[in-house]
Amino acid sequence: MTGRLSGKVAVATASAAGIGQATALAFAREGARVIATDIDETGLANLQGMAVGLDGTVETRRLDVTDLAAIKSLAAETDKIDILFNCAGFVHSGSILDATDEEWSFGFDLNVRSMFWMSRALLPAMIASGGGSIINISSIASSVKGLPNRFVYGATKAAVIGLTKSIAADYISNNIRCNAICPGTVESPSLEGRIAAFADPVQARKDFIARQPMGRLGKADEIAAVAVHLASDESTFTTGTTFHPDGGMSL
Ligand code: NAD
Repeated sequence: MTGRLSGKVAVATASAAGIGQATALAFAREGARVIATDIDETGLANLQGMAVGLDGTVETRRLDVTDLAAIKSLAAETDKIDILFNCAGFVHSGSILDATDEEWSFGFDLNVRSMFWMSRALLPAMIASGGGSIINISSIASSVKGLPNRFVYGATKAAVIGLTKSIAADYISNNIRCNAICPGTVESPSLEGRIAAFADPVQARKDFIARQPMGRLGKADEIAAVAVHLASDESTFTTGTTFHPDGGMSL
């Protein structure tokens, strides 16, 4: 049986951990050739080990998504691309009165400008390949829902939704689809770090779980499954939308 992404080439960011790692593996399981990138080279080496024996292939490459020159070099070496998975992002904690100008700029550089740069660099090859699917990771903390202490983060993730819809509108006639995924709270190394930073981590975990009416955290594989759907030809009538795998958080 051929995979749902057989014959497709995917470029993915933040592939060394969490949702990005699960998605790179899910793409390869479905037969894609995945160019998996991150700044964490140890995590990328682990990913490569995990991908052994899958139908598709995973090639790893160090890429800092805030480095325009590195993004341009990747684009210059990529002639066929069907899927762009923009996943890199950072959670800033705090309200507007806690946020510095530097934190605001860093949040927008990593969470939004990176998607602008990646998409602008790789769109020409996607168009030349006859079209493709761009999948951007936003969050429920965005224009979907205001959450306490997510001022910079929520603003950046709302911008990701606007960026997604703009690309979808401009390139629809080039057979480019662009959609965003807005996860609820998902088990990942960075979530563990956020929980550990609280004075009472046990209570913090309970609070993160309580945000989902389903009464649990999401799994990275549950987000990857949505990404596979959006990357595949199952979703060819779908563009400019947001998907909310969130355990009911946005109900
Ligand atoms: P994570 O935060 O645990 O890991 C992020 C990965 O990004 C790491 O491998 C890290 O090395 C990489 N990274 C950091 N800076 C980078 C840079 N400059 N260039 C390239 N890679 C870089 O993973 P996660 O929690 O699964 O989050 C992935 C995405 O999902 C983020 O955009 C995040 O905002 C979003 N998200 C996460 C959750 C959640 O609860 N985990 C919920 C909603 C949205």
